[in-house]
Amino acid sequence: MAWDFSTEPEFQEQLDWVDDFCRTEIEPLDLVFPGAAWSRNPKAKALADPLKQQVKDRGLWALFLDEELGGPGLGQLKLALLNEILGRYGSAPIIFGTAAPDTGNMEMLAAYGTEQQKKRWLVPLMNQEMFSAYSMTEPQGGSDPNLFKTHALRDGEEWVINGEKWFTSAGRRADILFVMCTNGMFVVPRETPGVEIMDYPSLHNHVRYNDVRVPHDHLLGPEDGAKVLAQRRLGGGRIHHAMRTVAQVKRAFDMMCERALSRESHGKVIADHQMVQEAIADSYAEINMLRLLVLWTAWTIDNSNTQEARTQIAACKYTCAKVLREVTYRALHIMGSLGTTNLTPLQAMWATAPTMAIADGVDEVHKVTVARNILKGYEPHDGLWPTEYIPAKREQAKKKYADLLAADPDYAAWSERAERAMMRGH
Ligand SMILES: Cc1cc2nc3c(=O)[nH]c(=O)nc-3n(C[C@H](O)[C@H](O)[C@H](O)COP(=O)(O)OP(=O)(O)OC[C@H]3O[C@@H](n4cnc5c(N)ncnc54)[C@H](O)[C@@H]3O)c2cc1C
Repeated sequence: MAWDFSTEPEFQEQLDWVDDFCRTEIEPLDLVFPGAAWSRNPKAKALADPLKQQVKDRGLWALFLDEELGGPGLGQLKLALLNEILGRYGSAPIIFGTAAPDTGNMEMLAAYGTEQQKKRWLVPLMNQEMFSAYSMTEPQGGSDPNLFKTHALRDGEEWVINGEKWFTSAGRRADILFVMCTNGMFVVPRETPGVEIMDYPSLHNHVRYNDVRVPHDHLLGPEDGAKVLAQRRLGGGRIHHAMRTVAQVKRAFDMMCERALSRESHGKVIADHQMVQEAIADSYAEINMLRLLVLWTAWTIDNSNTQEARTQIAACKYTCAKVLREVTYRALHIMGSLGTTNLTPLQAMWATAPTMAIADGVDEVHKVTVARNILKGYEPHDGLWPTEYIPAKREQAKKKYADLLAADPDYAAWSERAERAMMRGH
């Protein structure tokens, strides 16, 4: 019997270490020196680098990468359990070398880069000596890659890229940009002449590529292979987001339960009011449904690959947005006026729910993927009636008992009574 929801004691020790490390080291750093973990400022690095070193010493650095790609090779299931802790703390992903958008870009480099490309970009990205961004979405529409126009033209030993991208997260601070063109995925150093970063939006940048020239070897993977590389990148990214969302909703739930037991109204603690109990009960069930969906998906990836698990990944993607929206709203509501302020993490968590339903592909597109893939396993029924049409099934079943019904009037009467009862319904 292979179904097992337990965690190996050795790995539980790692999880306990991570939990303690996040609470005692990362959370205080975030509260007093927000942004330090990302900063290149020497004073910030003096605070964050020793923490990153502790993670490396523990063998938990870049834990999303398989062993052959340069990571610890934990697999997605263990990564999911770790992300259930890391996702609670703002800078934990960067302190553990697993922050987006670098993770997805590193995955593409690890899987498709030549040895030289890995040496030039993957190693410095892993060591956080370099940062990257991903330029895929275009201003005229992000959900449909067939609308993208950015193109690279071969000119001797160079590629000349022209196009316009929108919502390139952290593009302004990136050293290299992964640019999805209609004819391939290209690595473009941000300082290259012709890369023009607009003033706004400030975090998720609008970038123009005007006659940007890069050497021939800046094409990543095969020519015309951009969609395949993008799928590889986004598949991993989506499940990692979902794992971290489990952490977020558990955090909101903890706040909800603590407050429910601490606050009084109309003669009792609010935890004794049935509608508050309903909020807790619904949240508990939804969180666990999401968590099990995410863990099952992670397990499926470990036992096949992201492509095989794409229907499950898509289901995780829109479910995590929905559960985040529902649970953070309830938690915020139970917190009353305090919930509407920025004095607890809830207001910011609630505000991320709509973002979660858009980033990495809008919910609608993922729902279409799920429905289409699921329907491939079904056939239309023959004739007018569905397979489960009871009168037809009963006629079939009666053939099985034909001898018995013919031989014994008691059985025949019983069967007729059942038929009349069925006909009395609507
Ligand atoms: C926080 C954040 C970070 C991001 N980071 C990056 C990044 O680093 N790099 C990058 O390239 N992109 C990034 N994106 C962009 C993201 O990938 C796009 O926003 C997303 O793919 C949707 O594209 P769009 O915004 O153009 O919306 P549109 O494609 O215009 O969609 C708008 C709406 O139209 C409807 N719609 C669209 N298609 C369908 C459909 N098939 N069926 C039904 N309804 C539909 C939906 O209601 C949808 O919400 C980021 C987005 C966010 C929010």
